[in-house]
Amino acid sequence: VAFDGSWLVKRSQLSPTKIAIIDGETGEHWNYKELYNRTLNMADRLYQLGIGQGDRVAMLSPNDPSYFELLFACQAVGAIFVPLNWRLSEEELIFILQDCQAKCVFIHQDFSDMGKGLPFETIPLKTKPVHASRSAELPLGDSCKHAAIIYTGGTTGKPKGVILSHRNIASNAINTIISWGLSERDVTLTCLPMFHTGGLNALSTPLLMAGGTVVIMKDFQTDKVMDLLTLYHCTVVLMVPTMYHMLIEHPAFAEESFPSMKTFLSGGAPCPLEIYEAFFRKGKLFKEGYGLTEAGPNNFYIDPTEAYGKKGSVGKPMMFNEVKIVKENNKVAEANEVGEIFLKGPHVFTGYWSNKAETDKVKCDGWLRTGDLGKKDEDGYFYIVGRAKDLIISGGENVYPTEVEQTVSQHIAVKEVSVVGIPHPKWGEAVLAVVSLKRPASEKELTTYCSQRLGKYKVPKRFIFVKEIPKTAVGKIDKKLLMERYREIFT
Ligand code: ATP
Repeated sequence: VAFDGSWLVKRSQLSPTKIAIIDGETGEHWNYKELYNRTLNMADRLYQLGIGQGDRVAMLSPNDPSYFELLFACQAVGAIFVPLNWRLSEEELIFILQDCQAKCVFIHQDFSDMGKGLPFETIPLKTKPVHASRSAELPLGDSCKHAAIIYTGGTTGKPKGVILSHRNIASNAINTIISWGLSERDVTLTCLPMFHTGGLNALSTPLLMAGGTVVIMKDFQTDKVMDLLTLYHCTVVLMVPTMYHMLIEHPAFAEESFPSMKTFLSGGAPCPLEIYEAFFRKGKLFKEGYGLTEAGPNNFYIDPTEAYGKKGSVGKPMMFNEVKIVKENNKVAEANEVGEIFLKGPHVFTGYWSNKAETDKVKCDGWLRTGDLGKKDEDGYFYIVGRAKDLIISGGENVYPTEVEQTVSQHIAVKEVSVVGIPHPKWGEAVLAVVSLKRPASEKELTTYCSQRLGKYKVPKRFIFVKEIPKTAVGKIDKKLLMERYREIFT
């Protein structure tokens, strides 16, 4: 079987009148036949622009149904889709466009001003209305061919272009459908940015392959999330912990019962346990996934009956994925030992775009070194401990920020917390907690709270109170910025 773009042809034949995509902003919806016809129209447009095999086609847009039109149209003409992070500066965008040598950039009208500054051919992203159904077919392609390049680098150095093949995207989708039990009866709300693997590939492409419905939300607003989940009878949603925080803080959350919702999923960053609790109290399933642009992004599955008992665990590897925890001496870790998470499977990326040096750093014998730390318990359940580079070594002792964050966040006054390591003349690094509060609390109070629950070396040496903790475009806490901002606090 060639896992290429041709599945959309099949889907449009299997369930032509089923709603595929709903624009949460306007209520406009496309069934599978329309999605297919729009894709062909867009593919025609690409041909007319001289776009062909292997060309890079970039897109700068807020969340919008046209992401799918362009992604699938690129597949039809053999081009490579490059979604752009609209929070980047002009300089960063130019870096990416030059790095991938984009042949053209499609620009949504909201970003037409940004487009003017780019030294590239920019094309307004206006999609044609659908006409009578077309007879052309999406060509069968080579499943190993590049489908998309997604640039990462929100929280680490220079952006790197993660190349995803058709096979990568399709196997993530199939694995997700099988492991998470998605079907044509499922409806998701896509509120994560679609230029990111979380918005594009975690649930959206799998659900389209399964024949379900994807509701697209342009801007994240908690009111709207609640409305759209109910209005469109959504069954499954993926958000980052920051979004869940905003949702549970909303005054209407307490009364909301989310009648159609089956599963709330969190991913992308460590999730505080009180968020799990807030959904469990409503009798709703809350699960945490783990992944990265370079792998899937989906890697784990937890049985709903275990989700409560194994709170904080991402579960077991999905059907076609392999996971191992590797210690510093390259030995596979024993149960409950912390080590680096290595992943293997057909969803693992082929390499960084024209960056063999970086690819060789992370890929070895088919395994992907994630740079994240994790452990497996005696029952085979995995836990994400944090990023290896965020590990704090204070006075020679290892401090895992996630553990300290989980403790601080359980204090009744704490809204959100991030823990980072800051250079310290005596301890090498010292633990710093940056906290936003929902009710008044003093540094002394939080120190006492932590001292009663954590080993002395893990207790933050300082608590800094801020109104809002800074976030990246995807809504993850920007630790790089925090480390930079407070780097001299102990000197
Ligand atoms: P980079 O700057 O390296 O590109 P990123 O956050 O932009 O980082 P993504 O591919 O968007 O890269 O996110 C993947 C990372 O998110 C993982 O490597 C991991 O550190 C973190 N992550 C994902 N899921 C979880 C989780 N459930 N718990 C903790 N961290 C997670």
